[in-house]
Amino acid sequence: MAGRLVSETLTKLSQMGDVTLHEPAGDSPQAERARRRRKQEFNFSDCIASLQTPRGPKPVLKTMMTTACERNCHYCVFRAGRAKTKRVTFQPDEMASAFDTLENAGKVDGLFLSSGIIKGSVTTQDKIIDTADIIRNRQGYRGYIHLKIMPGIEYDQLYRSMQLADRISVNLEAPTTARLTALAPKKIFVEELVQMLQWAQQIRHNHQNQRLASSVTQFVVGAVGDTDLELLSMSDKLYSQAKLARVYYSAFSPVPGTPFEGLPPTEAIREFRLYQSSFLLRDYRWDVEELPFLRDGNLRTDVDPKQAWADVHLLHQPIEIMQAERERLLRVPGIGPISADAIIRARRRGSLSELIHLKQIGIRTPHKMAKYILLNGRQPTRQLNLF
Ligand code: SF4
Repeated sequence: MAGRLVSETLTKLSQMGDVTLHEPAGDSPQAERARRRRKQEFNFSDCIASLQTPRGPKPVLKTMMTTACERNCHYCVFRAGRAKTKRVTFQPDEMASAFDTLENAGKVDGLFLSSGIIKGSVTTQDKIIDTADIIRNRQGYRGYIHLKIMPGIEYDQLYRSMQLADRISVNLEAPTTARLTALAPKKIFVEELVQMLQWAQQIRHNHQNQRLASSVTQFVVGAVGDTDLELLSMSDKLYSQAKLARVYYSAFSPVPGTPFEGLPPTEAIREFRLYQSSFLLRDYRWDVEELPFLRDGNLRTDVDPKQAWADVHLLHQPIEIMQAERERLLRVPGIGPISADAIIRARRRGSLSELIHLKQIGIRTPHKMAKYILLNGRQPTRQLNLF
């Protein structure tokens, strides 16, 4: 009997297919994008994604409590009234036992759980919480759990979700109220979304002795005229004020049977440049005003933003590698946190006077940075044959 129920549940999972393909969840979102594909037949393994999680690479069950939704976000495959979407719903016990079966069989070691909204956000979040509670407290699972937060839930629900999960997502989708109204007319930007991220930070601050989930968000890029300046300004605020672990950028891709089906897709390179810029804000402590925006508020897509900045600021004022502070070293294209630390250690031991010395301490393409640096007071010659 139990075996039949499990088998029916796995069949339901396979009917959902690759339901969260529009929603990156790991630390390598562009690799996740590469596995997105269209096909008619699914099995439950389509719900299993290999993700870079904060606990390392894991096969994660990426699924939803329900693919039904009462909201009507214009870009979304699950929006209310879209006839082509197959609606599949799980109860918490059902979802928890499907996870248990897959975990015991060694197929998954992690859960990403999202949902469409039915009977309001509060009721929907209760089902997500109940599922995670069964998995943690009845089934005793201690591994990776990532929970989606429904818009506008109660403070205590958010706190409980953060106790159960390693990571929570509150997807803003857009960088401003006006852009969100154009994308998702029933979502309320500040009260339903931004406030969730502010509360999450407040909860972490108020309960510093507890192990609580980190927060992430996602933007849908390019459907409603949003600019890179808007997206990165909001990202910068979220990193500094709401202490987000990361921001995802998802290039808009039109879904047939939605109001946006006729809009052009956003180029993947724009998404890539946003990620590069976002890391400059989060990991390199750049100010958003320093990013090389064009007059229309977007970044060039044909050049790495760090290189575009260096072409303006470093060509005539190269950085002295033997003396620069770590923060200045990080301004040089090709020098990241690991290379900056390697330079600081190496120059304590002796002089770095040639590009080959940078190569010897692990910098892979020193010739590419030659025009932006000085080594012992002189611009290094680009001896390409050495590399
Ligand atoms: S609330 Fe979520 S699932 Fe529902 S239509 Fe909007 S984006 Fe899609």
